[in-house]
Amino acid sequence: MRLVLLGPPGAGKGTQAALLTERYRIAHLSTGDMLRAARAAKTPVGLRAAEIMDRGDLVPDAVMIEIISDRINEPDCANGFILDGFPRTIPQAEALEQLLADREIALDAVVRIVVDEAILLDRIVMRAESGEGRADDKAETLKNRLEVYRTQTAPLIDFYKSHGTLREVDGMQSIEDVAASMDEALRVEAT
Ligand code: ADP
Repeated sequence: MRLVLLGPPGAGKGTQAALLTERYRIAHLSTGDMLRAARAAKTPVGLRAAEIMDRGDLVPDAVMIEIISDRINEPDCANGFILDGFPRTIPQAEALEQLLADREIALDAVVRIVVDEAILLDRIVMRAESGEGRADDKAETLKNRLEVYRTQTAPLIDFYKSHGTLREVDGMQSIEDVAASMDEALRVEAT
């Protein structure tokens, strides 16, 4: 199974992706995690991305597309994968279509986690204040990340609607209930 999770920062993509990974035995490809690992390892890409991430802006499409293109060739992706944080722009989504077509594979579903953005802001602020926050969890960066989501990433909703692969789940439920809704949405897809 090959999935894309769509949703604004704080929607719970990472949490749900971790659950889906266990359930379906497929790889979890979080571009945010990959960039943070590259940064920690001080690779050239990681060092260049660091500043961009701290501002809450997007790393250039070409960089992200190359990272994903390499990553889906890894053996752990043979059984399928969940993309969490990619694509984040229309050019990334178009590049993904091409990458998949080149490998003669396709997405099974794009699942949008639908959340209330005001409540979302509270959630991320809480995460920041709990001390577990990341460098990009600062309040001013958060605002920018939400704005970047609205302008750059939200257009993907219509993109995938017109490609007929979009499923929506209510992200304002408990983690367990979101997971159950996710399962249901994917069962519908499988039939
Ligand atoms: P979020 O908490 O918003 O889901 P992520 O952990 O997915 O954040 O990503 C953190 C940061 O990494 C983003 O704000 C962005 O700077 C960068 N990033 C991650 N994925 C992408 C992508 N597909 N395109 C561009 N930048 C990305």
